[in-house]
Amino acid sequence: MSAEKISRGLCGAIGNTPLMRLEKLSAATGCEILGKAEFLNPGGSVKDRAAIGIVDDAEKRGLLKPGGVIVEGTAGNTGIGLAMVGSTKGYRTVIVIPNTQAREKMALLQTLGAEVREVPPAPFPQPGNYNMVAKRVAEEIPGAFWANQFDNVANREMHYRTTGPEIWEQTGGRVTAFVAAVGTGGTLAGVSRFLKERRADVRTVCADPYGAAIWSWVKKGNLDDDEGDSITEGIGQNRITKNLEGAPIDDAYRIGDPVILEMMYFLLRHEGLYLGSSSAINACGAVKLARERGPGQVIVTVLADGGDRYRSKLYNPEWLAAQGLTPTAKGLEFLDQL
Ligand code: PMP
Repeated sequence: MSAEKISRGLCGAIGNTPLMRLEKLSAATGCEILGKAEFLNPGGSVKDRAAIGIVDDAEKRGLLKPGGVIVEGTAGNTGIGLAMVGSTKGYRTVIVIPNTQAREKMALLQTLGAEVREVPPAPFPQPGNYNMVAKRVAEEIPGAFWANQFDNVANREMHYRTTGPEIWEQTGGRVTAFVAAVGTGGTLAGVSRFLKERRADVRTVCADPYGAAIWSWVKKGNLDDDEGDSITEGIGQNRITKNLEGAPIDDAYRIGDPVILEMMYFLLRHEGLYLGSSSAINACGAVKLARERGPGQVIVTVLADGGDRYRSKLYNPEWLAAQGLTPTAKGLEFLDQL
């Protein structure tokens, strides 16, 4: 008789995602390239972990009480996680989101019952920045709690307590490297700290899009070089968030949109994986690391969310053509651009 394995509602179904070997990328590099399938979380992204981690922590601290309201500034995925977790726990959710984000994410947030407030993009810490707006909105609503995913370290703690240990177990302790793009930095910081405590020589790497400054921070020790731009969503950070402070990051790669898009379509057509652009930049980073450090590595990265969330943009041929980003590769020849 096998023991029953029943999750405690939606919250109990967050995490414990599969670790998938990306067969073609592994064969092409002589390394094991493994994707943590975070898109299989109930809310469809890695941010479900931050959502439940932050809400549980706020309840423990008495910051969120029965009938309370969760307020957050988010590019979408954290809001989706918070709205779902909020529903099961009886909290209303108010989401402040830049109006540049994919419509699918806004529609989904509304379907989930969140109140969605769109704001024009503005850099942090300007008052119009979506996070600053969220902070003010939370101050105005009685019983509201600002999740503050960027600077609330309950975010990285959740990855330290769950994602890191899962990766260690799933690879039987064989993992040699971890690669992830940075939004809040919770994933990279939490997982890196856990893995390095287990084995100090596990290599930890940030895969950064253009327009972000974490590459500059890791390579040059300053945030000065944030040139360029990117169509990626949910990643691209220009400051050291509280979640990033003290994170043991060994190296960083800067990866351009054309190769990210090629990888995204390669994963779709050859690995059967329908994913967002942050998963593709992560896979690019994993391959770059494999090529740099040579065969035999066990490289883990994050398949952060699914492609359906971006159908009107990343999976829309007209949109891609208008951006000049139509992928053309038949196989893996695009890796030479890495
Ligand atoms: N990928 C996607 C799709 C995301 O939504 C996010 C978070 N906004 C990330 C990656 C980055 O994760 P983190 O915030 O833990 O750095």
